Amino acid sequence: MAVKLFITGVFVHLFLLSNGAVVADEYRQQRQQMAADIEDDVEIVAKHINKKSFDTMVMQAMRTVPRHEFVPADLRGEAYENRPLPIGFGQTISQPYIVALMTDLLRPQPGQRVLEIGTGSGYQAAVLSQLVAQVYSIEIIEQLGKSTAQLLTQLGYGNIKTRIADGYDGWPQHAPYDSIIVTAAISHIPPPLVQQLKKGGRMLIPVGTRFQTQYLTLVEKDKQGKVTTRKLLPVIFVPFTGGH
Ligand code: SAH
Repeated sequence: MAVKLFITGVFVHLFLLSNGAVVADEYRQQRQQMAADIEDDVEIVAKHINKKSFDTMVMQAMRTVPRHEFVPADLRGEAYENRPLPIGFGQTISQPYIVALMTDLLRPQPGQRVLEIGTGSGYQAAVLSQLVAQVYSIEIIEQLGKSTAQLLTQLGYGNIKTRIADGYDGWPQHAPYDSIIVTAAISHIPPPLVQQLKKGGRMLIPVGTRFQTQYLTLVEKDKQGKVTTRKLLPVIFVPFTGGH
């Protein structure tokens, strides 16, 4: 939770962590600039997504989540630039703009339960956790998944449950999900994920390979259970790995 305190004549923005610790949020201004950059970018894809701006609550989450906590220490200075950054293990933290776009397209609502495939840095999960009741996130790289789980706990994100596994099979134990977000590119839509999507639910997934154009694809399951897919826009994601 971000709070504003009046201390010795200047406003200092502080970050209240769940364990009660208060730390100065020196990155607040950079985060506001990042949000402004994202808002500028929306115009570029307006025609693909049929809207001129992102949801206010989504932008509020982008202004709140401390992205610098999710990047390697030596890249903190670049944390609020609107581009992806390496997080080790050959993986990347997604570009803030893409995180905002995918989050917006999922149409998150309070009370919902969302499944993410590809925990990575945990940043996308943290943004979602501000908007829904519960986030479930799966990472295939054990070491990365473990350190991210630790970070999420340390930062106080109590409504994110993580797991190390191949996300192709989803997480049947908590299914069905109001929405599913896949953050690695795959050649086809995994049937288990479609199965674990609620009726009326939405899934966003980059479909394509390293050698083809990948398209961010929206999968919708209607109230009768009928599934339709729609390519939205070209994107670049790291590849989906595992045994499928
Ligand atoms: N959502 C992340 C993006 C990370 S990049 C963030 O906000 O930082 C994509 C991640 O998907 C990588 O960490 C990669 O290891 C993971 N991934 C790739 N294939 C996977 C699979 N089959 N199951 C689960 N995670 C996978």
